[in-house]
Amino acid sequence: MTTDLNTMNRAVGAAMEASTDGGKRRDWVRVARVRSLSDPKPGENRENYVLAVRPTGTAKGFQFGCSCPDWIHRKSHTGETCKHQRLFLAFPKKSSSIKDGVWLYRAGQAFLRVVR
Ligand SMILES: [Zn+2]
Repeated sequence: MTTDLNTMNRAVGAAMEASTDGGKRRDWVRVARVRSLSDPKPGENRENYVLAVRPTGTAKGFQFGCSCPDWIHRKSHTGETCKHQRLFLAFPKKSSSIKDGVWLYRAGQAFLRVVR
C-alpha cells in the first residue's frame, strides 16, 4: 500500500463529511467492518472488527484504528497497518455485501473514493 499521508488525510476528511451521526463514536468515525480472517473457535461466531478513523493534532494528521487485538496491542504503537486495514484499503468495490467479508459504511465509501 503506497497511499501517501496527504491522500490519507483527504480521505479522512471525506469520511468525516460523509459520516452520519450514528457512525460516530466520540471523534472516531467508523469506515468498515471486516470479518475475521481466522476460523472461529467451536461454538463461537466469527468475529467482526471495526475500522475507524479520526483526525488528530499530530504531524501525521489522523489515526486509523482497528478493533482487533493485533492493532490494539501492537500496530497502534508502531503505526503499521493490520491485515484488516490492508484488506479495506485494497477493497476493489464501491459497496459491499456480507459475502465480501468487508462491510463499508458511508464514510468508508467516501474514504475509498479518495484513496483510489
Ligand atoms: Zn485489525
